[in-house]
Amino acid sequence: MTNQQLWQAVLGELELSLSKANFTTWFKNTAISFVDGEKVMVSVPNTFTKAWLENKYHQSIFKSLQNILGPQIKEIIYKVELVKSQPQKFEAVPSAPLLNPKKTEAGEEIINKFGLNSKYVFTNFVVGKNNELAHAAAQAVAKNPGKSTYNPLFIYGGVGLGKTHLLQAIGHALLADDSTKKILYITSEKFTNNYVQAIRSRTMEKFKQLYRSPDLLLIDDVQFMAAKDGTQQEFFHTFNELHQADKQIVMTSDRPPKAIPALEQRLVSRFEWGMIADISQPDYETRIAILKAKCHEKGIALDQTIINFIATVIQNNIREIEGALNKIIAYEQFHHMSPTLELVKSILSPHITSPKKSATPKQLINTVAEFYDLKLEELLGQSREKRLAFPRQIIMYLMREELRSSYPAIGQEVGGRDHSTAMHAYEKISGEIENNERTKQEIEQIKQRLYNG
Ligand code: ADP
Ligand code: MG
Repeated sequence: MTNQQLWQAVLGELELSLSKANFTTWFKNTAISFVDGEKVMVSVPNTFTKAWLENKYHQSIFKSLQNILGPQIKEIIYKVELVKSQPQKFEAVPSAPLLNPKKTEAGEEIINKFGLNSKYVFTNFVVGKNNELAHAAAQAVAKNPGKSTYNPLFIYGGVGLGKTHLLQAIGHALLADDSTKKILYITSEKFTNNYVQAIRSRTMEKFKQLYRSPDLLLIDDVQFMAAKDGTQQEFFHTFNELHQADKQIVMTSDRPPKAIPALEQRLVSRFEWGMIADISQPDYETRIAILKAKCHEKGIALDQTIINFIATVIQNNIREIEGALNKIIAYEQFHHMSPTLELVKSILSPHITSPKKSATPKQLINTVAEFYDLKLEELLGQSREKRLAFPRQIIMYLMREELRSSYPAIGQEVGGRDHSTAMHAYEKISGEIENNERTKQEIEQIKQRLYNG
């Protein structure tokens, strides 16, 4: 394994625990410059980054290195050095050298002029019960863009379940059919930033032209438009213009349109015009199929027992499944042997350790408040408005289910309510989960946020 591959494996793991913005800020232009017995030298671009890595991320980097190289690693030195720019695109770091269906000779992933990453195509997207509807709709759109039944197509689901992959696959497929088509892939964050920028620099005309001209507009993570009124208004006009011209729009989000807090009603209703498809968590069989496909892509053979083990312990997120696989591959390449099941268990232990112990009632309440975009005072207050009562019941349910709190303790924690209120909430939400797919999904997502930060 080269130093670069080693660093990629470390970064792949760190990325899971950091926000994308932090990750990019602190790990861009870093590298391992040498490994010598018990020492590893990490080169960083400036003293500022050095200080941050030393103070804030040292423990995680250290653990991850020990995990891959073994306990003989004792010391990490951070050194300011000009790092030669890496050949691969930074955004694709976690799986860059390893997972790569279409790469250049230098092994880099390509982000084409439309913003599409070459690795997100239909051919390597594994279809299971959890995503078959979204997949079918995506394919239909790619074949027949702009037809009203699927315009817009709105795909929603939790983190790391393949929304971006599917979204970009549509772009690639359309382009493969007709290379003259204009496609634009953008995250809603970037759309927002560009909009703000355009206002500042008085280049709205250019902005409008850019966004209102493509045949296919792929807009990722639209939930980030929540509460940004100017952006929403601009997007409303963009949407109308494209839609009227029979141009295809595809959006993704972590939840359905109605559940996005602070999204203008007129946008909600437009988002619901066409087709809405969700991606849920993959079941065991699908996880196995995904693992096998990834092994195949990466050209490695893993024992069936190991594949079964990974599919059993890592359940909720495909990005995490890939991260686990990358760690095992890194181990294999470094030690020149396949790890045993026992070793895999220890390599993956950071992914498996039961997260439940670490959540507190406060964290849970904050997570729910953030998820529904509510103020704590409202949420814990006395008002019985539905928009408050429901999230409040979710809190009580999760405190019981996840934290094993007693009903009186739950009532106390949630604004000093009676234990019977907590009991009622628990029963009500338990029933909802059985009967209402949306509630079930929301709870899954809240749990993901709670435990994965
Ligand atoms: P999201 O946008 O929903 O957070 P991504 O599309 O970024 O998730 O997917 C996370 C990772 O998992 C990507 O590397 C993607 O290629 C992979 N992935 C997700 N779903 C599938 C699938 N069904 N088949 C193959 N790979 C998948
Ligand atoms: Mg995504």
